[in-house]
Amino acid sequence: MRWSVTKLVAAAALGWEIVLCACAAGPEVPAPPASGSRNVILVTIDTLRVDHLSTYGYPRPTSPALDRLAARGVRFAAAFSAASCTAASHASLLTGLPASLHTIGPFNGTFPLAPGAETLAEVLAAAGWKTAAVVSNPVLARSLGLDQGFAVYDDELPEQELNRPSAEQKAGTAIAKAEAILGTLARPYFLWLHLQDPHGPYAPPPGWERFDSAEGAAATAELPVGEDQSGYGAIPLYQRLGEERRTAAYVDRYDDEIAYAMAELGRFLDHLDGAGRLADTLVVVTADHGEALGEDGFYFAHGHSVGPDQVRVPLVLAGPELAAGQVVTVPVSTAAVFNTVLAALGLPPRADDRAPSLLPLLAAGGEAPPVFVESPNQVGVAVAGAFFRRDRVPADDERFWSAPNPTTGGFWRPLGRQLMPLMPVATPPQPADLEPLLDGFERRARRAEQAMRTVRRQRDLSYQDRAALRALGYTG
Ligand SMILES: [Zn+2]
Repeated sequence: MRWSVTKLVAAAALGWEIVLCACAAGPEVPAPPASGSRNVILVTIDTLRVDHLSTYGYPRPTSPALDRLAARGVRFAAAFSAASCTAASHASLLTGLPASLHTIGPFNGTFPLAPGAETLAEVLAAAGWKTAAVVSNPVLARSLGLDQGFAVYDDELPEQELNRPSAEQKAGTAIAKAEAILGTLARPYFLWLHLQDPHGPYAPPPGWERFDSAEGAAATAELPVGEDQSGYGAIPLYQRLGEERRTAAYVDRYDDEIAYAMAELGRFLDHLDGAGRLADTLVVVTADHGEALGEDGFYFAHGHSVGPDQVRVPLVLAGPELAAGQVVTVPVSTAAVFNTVLAALGLPPRADDRAPSLLPLLAAGGEAPPVFVESPNQVGVAVAGAFFRRDRVPADDERFWSAPNPTTGGFWRPLGRQLMPLMPVATPPQPADLEPLLDGFERRARRAEQAMRTVRRQRDLSYQDRAALRALGYTG
């Protein structure tokens, strides 16, 4: 199927109305499929850039658990998150929609998900699945609205971040909660487990400082500590690790955090596997966004653009219906998890603006629809062969560029246009081919923005939420 600009624009004309009305008729309630997956475990790992995973070719052994999962399932080599910040990206994952078409938008929690939105958990709960979530980032507190459809939504964060009065929890704590919940959860179930560890500050638990870039010139490059959280040419305030200023040491600790989270995830999955509980379970592992490690001049930060450093994420699926060891190279969006899970469970997909199921790509290969990614200041599109991004705001619009970035506390910076190759194709797409796709997407986004003015409201934050988000540099 070809996804032309005409089709995208035509879909846009219907998009928001479909979103608002999608749950009116209520999902059908078929019997669970006789074979294939009955249970679903969705794991999202915060701030996990794909090229720091051994599963995706990183030379350090950071992700042996994901290596094992990919060996018995499917690895998507060019997966993109829908946005480069936590709230927007998770909302797309759980609704299947581009960020502009849900009420959270490309922002990091300024607005909640509208009660009328239809989430994956709501669809599954209505079809008879037991639902539970454990989240580890204060941005995902239930006031964001992503708790819709979860009978259990554990957003209690018993631990303290290194530099800020901000709550969090380590992977070990989150997984202990998940194990306790699974012990009481009737089948079939849908469990969403969110792990926070690679998100800064990069402070792995005791015993997990394992990587060491002591050799080479790169190990001696240093950065100052910045005055805000933006990370532009400096270490974000909340990321500082004592007197350490060497950039390579920060990357070491980032890799340590990944290795720790992956080790905990591996222990969790191995335990379930040993108990025979993965035989009828679809496991999905992905991330909400990556992390800049110097790209565009930004260090140890995300949410300031849609650069590949921030939107290229892992996506691995394993389940009884999936042949082992497959690799899909065409670009896909993590927003497709919504319909992919429904398809795997034998439930009817939502044929609206949501990203279609990825399962047909496995059966027949072929073309996938364009993948769009967003931040408030940038928009990008990935197609076979290339990823193209551009600013959403003219470079001379000082009203935007002088406004603080609510995600980082720093200021937006114009980054212009950039075309980046993905996998080799016979005729690599050029900017002239991709600009019209972004134009159509932006028209749809603007129409949605207009429609949402009547349904969007400011997030109803608790005192604790406000303190936590202020500590993250969020000022909205
Ligand atoms: Zn995040």
